[in-house]
Amino acid sequence: MKRVAVLGSTGSIGTSTLEVIASHPDKLQLVGVAARSRADILVRQLDQFRPKLVAMWEEEKARELQRLTGRRPILVGMEGLIQLATHPDVDIVVVATSGRDALIPLVQAIQAGKQIALASKELLVMAGELIMRLAREHGVSLVPIDSEHAALFQCLQGIPKDRVSRLVITGSGGPFWGVPPSQRHAATRAQVLSHPKWQMGPKITVDSATLMNKGLEVIEARWLFDVPVERIQIVIHPEAVVHGLIELVDGSVLAQMSPCDMRLPIQYALSFPERWESRLPRLSLTQLSALHFLAPDLEQFPCLRLALDAAAAAGSACVVLNGANDAAVQGYLQDEVPFAEIPRVIAETLEQHTPILHPTLDEVLAVDAWSRTVAETLLRKPSCHVV
Ligand code: MG
Repeated sequence: MKRVAVLGSTGSIGTSTLEVIASHPDKLQLVGVAARSRADILVRQLDQFRPKLVAMWEEEKARELQRLTGRRPILVGMEGLIQLATHPDVDIVVVATSGRDALIPLVQAIQAGKQIALASKELLVMAGELIMRLAREHGVSLVPIDSEHAALFQCLQGIPKDRVSRLVITGSGGPFWGVPPSQRHAATRAQVLSHPKWQMGPKITVDSATLMNKGLEVIEARWLFDVPVERIQIVIHPEAVVHGLIELVDGSVLAQMSPCDMRLPIQYALSFPERWESRLPRLSLTQLSALHFLAPDLEQFPCLRLALDAAAAAGSACVVLNGANDAAVQGYLQDEVPFAEIPRVIAETLEQHTPILHPTLDEVLAVDAWSRTVAETLLRKPSCHVV
């Protein structure tokens, strides 16, 4: 029996993770859950799974949860997340929080020797070099949940690293692929938030509409698989059937295909190194339409270019990219900035930064905080409000 703690249990990946756990009661046990503020969903999860450990990021929400359930203790804030992620009763930590809050809990979970299933790509974008070095030092397996990286991870099993010539990450192109700029700039919130293939949380859905998500995924893959950025290719694949491909030195290409359902990569990350049966939807090859693969358009999607430039620069540029993007997307979601201004806020923040090549954890956190402050100031600049 593997004992699982889920950081971010009420989000999109978190709730899917709990479904996977419920479908394997003989193999998986939920021993801990942590959420930011959704006490209502957490009440139902506690009722269904009765985990031993509960953590809530916001103190007021922790008190509300206590009122609703009579449960105590409820772990609170950063200290609570760390206690949950390093608890002796936990074998696997699923990191599925949005944003950066789980960075220190992740680092400490690795240092405590926990197996990691990682959905939060931002943490690898910010501190991938450091996280992967720690994972190697502590002999910890870190399995990605992000669908493209889960695909690459599966294709790479049993392949010596020096036999791989290229990694290919696919992306559906989001809601605005092939849409003229004028229509894209006038898009409503509903259009930005309606992804053609995946049901996800609001932050990653906006990142998918700007294609920043693919850029973040290149940086994520660079650290996860220790492959230089120039050997990672992005391909737009609107049907979203092939999630990732690897090309070997002899020219052979291996791909992973499956329906768009995050429960598959989640289950694989939890079962690794085994592979378990599932009742998930199957791919019907004879019902597939034609599959298309297209080069991404960096002119139409400036966020992708910014991400690839930061990826090439590496170091703290990626921290700034991530922090400024997060601030700009939150600004957009709160109506502080139009959709078309997101790349400008990120670009101007990057311009003000003096890069550090191999930042320490403290430097990562400091640069992250700095980039958010700068980006938030830029969001309020009147020039940003001109569409
Ligand atoms: Mg992905």
